[in-house]
Amino acid sequence: MVREKSEPRFTGERWILHADMDAFYASIEQRDHPELRGKPVIVGAGSARGVVAAASYEARVFGVHSAMPGFRAKQLCPHAVFVPSNIEHYAAVSSEVHAVFERFTPEIEPIALDEAFLDVSASVGLYGGSPRELAVALKRQVLEATSLCVSVGVAPSKLVAKIACTLGKPNGLCVVQPSEVRALLDPLPVRRLWGVGPVLEQELVRRGFRTLADLANHDPDALVQKLGPRALELRALARGIDTRAVIADRAPKSIGEENTFETDVLERDVVANALGAHAENVARRLRRAGSRARTISLKAKLGRARGNKPGRTERDGEPNYPLLTRSRTIPNPTDDGLVLRDVVLALWDELALLEPVRLLGVSVSKLEPRETSQLDLFAPPKKDALGPTLDAITERFGKAAIRRGDRAPDKITHGRGRKPGEH
Ligand SMILES: [Mg+2]
Repeated sequence: MVREKSEPRFTGERWILHADMDAFYASIEQRDHPELRGKPVIVGAGSARGVVAAASYEARVFGVHSAMPGFRAKQLCPHAVFVPSNIEHYAAVSSEVHAVFERFTPEIEPIALDEAFLDVSASVGLYGGSPRELAVALKRQVLEATSLCVSVGVAPSKLVAKIACTLGKPNGLCVVQPSEVRALLDPLPVRRLWGVGPVLEQELVRRGFRTLADLANHDPDALVQKLGPRALELRALARGIDTRAVIADRAPKSIGEENTFETDVLERDVVANALGAHAENVARRLRRAGSRARTISLKAKLGRARGNKPGRTERDGEPNYPLLTRSRTIPNPTDDGLVLRDVVLALWDELALLEPVRLLGVSVSKLEPRETSQLDLFAPPKKDALGPTLDAITERFGKAAIRRGDRAPDKITHGRGRKPGEH
């Protein structure tokens, strides 16, 4: 019998810890400014257009939560103390927390400044073999190092560890044994699954799937009939089957491709071809990295030098070619080469250059793991449905094998070393 790739294996030997600092930014402010302790503190919504970056538990009581518009937070909790956000400081505290995590395992996947997954499978033995003892030690050491509280969920998978962590908040400590996974998941609303956003939730509920048990206990064939093939992923998750690994390597912050031309170019066709090829390569690397990008950038270096680089003479041979960059942030993160191409071409057109360029580049940033993107069970087939197919062909026959009608630019200057998303 062929074992399906996604077929679960629950050995019970795998222990994933999800750590999430409680009201991180607000707690840091309260720690650093004792006069704020015990008061509702709202970080980052000072201006009329600001958005709440974090709210202390005292503020949450009034219904304030992060990502809420500042004016709404003010309506709900007018007596709150509004504090400007100080991300550099929070990032520094985050590093201190991370340093504590490193005492427990090198397998750490940071999710945000205040959140990480740790694969502690190999280290529970050091704590008497008990994930609970390890979690207690971790919480205590974070508190000692930073005077801040971290909530912790420990479970055989990422999905369950994260849910366990949330359930325990604040100051949570929730350990889920393999035998307890189903009992924990069954009563939860479908919304708790990764990939299920408000739209999908509505659709699922409309079709009679309210709880994870509804999905988990449904006959797989009937489920595919009702919801399509991707419903099996949801069913597996609802059964607590999640084999995703903790990815210790920090995801790349950006991915880019660029080339210098043999002769400077301005013709739109040539530019479109080059940008299209770059976009496709960037998209392929995004898919390999399991990421999607929100911000797309165009880089263009003018062909005519303006003097020399600052501090350099002509003899140093470093003429100064003006570099132009334009970026756009799109509402839905993408790994689709066509979307990337459309955006950079629009940016190129907006530049409306009158003189040729020697270099063109496409890069993406604000990367998000694909898992957190909404799963679109019901959407019509997407533009990027071709992406994975292209990847498979490219992998087999090499990059020259297929292109979406875009020729590679005539000369590509390759970067050194392995790029993120390249194997
Ligand atoms: Mg948090």
